[in-house]
Amino acid sequence: MATIELSRENFYHNLSQLALKAGGRERLAVVLKDNAYGHGLELMARMAHEYGIKEAVVISNEEAERIRELFDNILVLGDAPRVDEKLSYAISTLASLESLDPGVKLELKVDTGMHRNGIMLAELETALSIIKRRRLHLFGVMTHYRSADELTGEYYWQKKRFESVRRKVREAGFTSTRFHSHNSAGLLRSRSFDEAIARVGIAIYGYNPLPKGFDAVELRPVLSLWARRASTRRLRPGERVGYGGVFTAPEEMTVSTYDLGYGDGWPRGDAERPYRTAEGLPILGHVSMDFLSLEGDREQVCIMEDARRAAEHFATIPYEMTTALMPTIPRMIKE
Ligand SMILES: *Cc1c(COP(=O)(O)O)cnc(C)c1O
Repeated sequence: MATIELSRENFYHNLSQLALKAGGRERLAVVLKDNAYGHGLELMARMAHEYGIKEAVVISNEEAERIRELFDNILVLGDAPRVDEKLSYAISTLASLESLDPGVKLELKVDTGMHRNGIMLAELETALSIIKRRRLHLFGVMTHYRSADELTGEYYWQKKRFESVRRKVREAGFTSTRFHSHNSAGLLRSRSFDEAIARVGIAIYGYNPLPKGFDAVELRPVLSLWARRASTRRLRPGERVGYGGVFTAPEEMTVSTYDLGYGDGWPRGDAERPYRTAEGLPILGHVSMDFLSLEGDREQVCIMEDARRAAEHFATIPYEMTTALMPTIPRMIKE
């Protein structure tokens, strides 16, 4: 079976770097949505808890239930709100404010420029009056940056808009409401972070979303992906490997089959331009649903130890490389 190893040391290194930026570990809300970006929800949640993290962010009630004992508050980004003192819910429309149970801990999402979720700025007054009239519990107000990872002014104008939202909400009399807007890129760019929490995702897993060289915060990948040898054969020159026989042995060589394929969430990619494993071995021929081939006969090989390098190869982003890894792959913590 292919396996995923999670480095506790690297994870804690990343959390400590981010805690320095945020002004304390209690200000970090770890984003564990989508099976902790494919790393494994329960293991990452348990390690975060053991480090002293008090807040998490997930996508669904189902994810929240699996880790509820480990955190003081869990923000659910995309599911039906429930009345539960441990769970808060991102609420994005005036219609949902009208139908929300007043017992729900609501975190009003405001659209400051991403134009994907959240009420529009022009709807803020209406939203606040609905909240007052219906006596809803406005636990938080939040926004999300669309391009904090680009070194343009975008981060700053969105930040300015959110500051005016904060002022208006305070002026409307909501004095105990919390405010948060920063994702990893935002936090890593900030110079004087002063919000209740930062919602940190990709950075906790070890990937700095800022362009190389911009910010010297050094992060370390938490996840490494390993495959195990299923069988080995000796090939003569001219023999070909896998579907379509795309790889031809140039000389006599030993080739082994390893138990990882696109059914596990590993990209099939372009066999003419093969990905190289952590040790530099090119994948031979096409990746199959459950298997791929490499030269040699080692029992275990590290396929990926750095999702950023892999993402560059496959023309995507580290988020997609790790999130695609199927939950059926066993995960374990490397101490
Ligand atoms: C996913 C997500 C984050 C985390 O973003 P990163 O870039 O991974 O740090 C923060 N906030 C919201 C609302 C999100 O959906």
